[in-house]
Amino acid sequence: MKTKRFGWTDLEVPVIGQGTWPVPAVAALRRGIDLGMTHVDTAEMYGDGRSEELVGEAIAPYPRASLFVVTKVLPSNATQAGVATACERSLRRLRTDYVDCFLLHWRGDVALEETMAGLADLVRAGKARTIGVSNFDPWDLREGVVALPAATRIACNQILYNLDERTPEAHELPWARDNDSAVVAYTPLARSGDSASEVVLGEIARAHRVTPEAVALAFLTHDPLAFAIPKANTIAHVEANAAAGDVTLSDDEIAAIDRAFPVRQRVGPLPTN
Ligand code: NAP
Repeated sequence: MKTKRFGWTDLEVPVIGQGTWPVPAVAALRRGIDLGMTHVDTAEMYGDGRSEELVGEAIAPYPRASLFVVTKVLPSNATQAGVATACERSLRRLRTDYVDCFLLHWRGDVALEETMAGLADLVRAGKARTIGVSNFDPWDLREGVVALPAATRIACNQILYNLDERTPEAHELPWARDNDSAVVAYTPLARSGDSASEVVLGEIARAHRVTPEAVALAFLTHDPLAFAIPKANTIAHVEANAAAGDVTLSDDEIAAIDRAFPVRQRVGPLPTN
């Protein structure tokens, strides 16, 4: 499993992690951790806290320092005090003293200054090693950065990014590059390519002895800032996804996938599904 630096931080994180929406299967999550997918993504929203509880159960036998656990606060709970309370609830369900990254799930009605002050408090209190956002476009990101107290930085932006939805390459990835932030691709496996595109993916998959899904994950994470968090409750899927963490695509293969699944122009806001 390849790892890389998580944005500006000095934390080495596996390029392929694990999603847990709506709820994970404990055995599948553990198989993934054993295969190096130690970045586990959850949220207070998922299963109304059940996802965090199952993640807590799954990770309990592992040394805490070997994991990179991420959770998210709902925008409706994201006042300064609300962030602190939500984090305590999440930590209890996750059976841990801290998370590795704590995210605002999406931008809501609470002023960003207030939410960001709450996130910064978590870092100061040692409850979150890093903080970040999700579903932020460059406009939100610029505002978010301004709203953060000095010496606190966003480590990542978690966004919808897959072979159908490559518009982040023209918007959020350039922002991330300028700000040395990680981009975490959610729903990374969605694709609706035609049969010709599937042939391209299939040929590359055969050459690397992995599945087309693994090739998609390798493509999405070839940018030095990008990570992906596929969710799999099926052990065979977990193993296929973990294999992506060892695939390095050639320039020709990247160009072929780029042609088969072209970047479309974004119409409207950053998509979320
Ligand atoms: P996804 O990971 O792209 O797709 C999950 C689906 O793909 C499941 O049905 C899974 O089946 C299947 N699958 C997994 N690996 C496969 C493989 N190798 N081959 C074929 N099928 C495979 O979609 P997602 O769950 O929407 O996104 C992933 C994670 O991102 C979520 O779980 C969540 O943690 C996060 N997320 C965040 C946000 C946000 O707003 N920040 C939004 C959506 C998602 P099985 O489960 O049966 O294996």
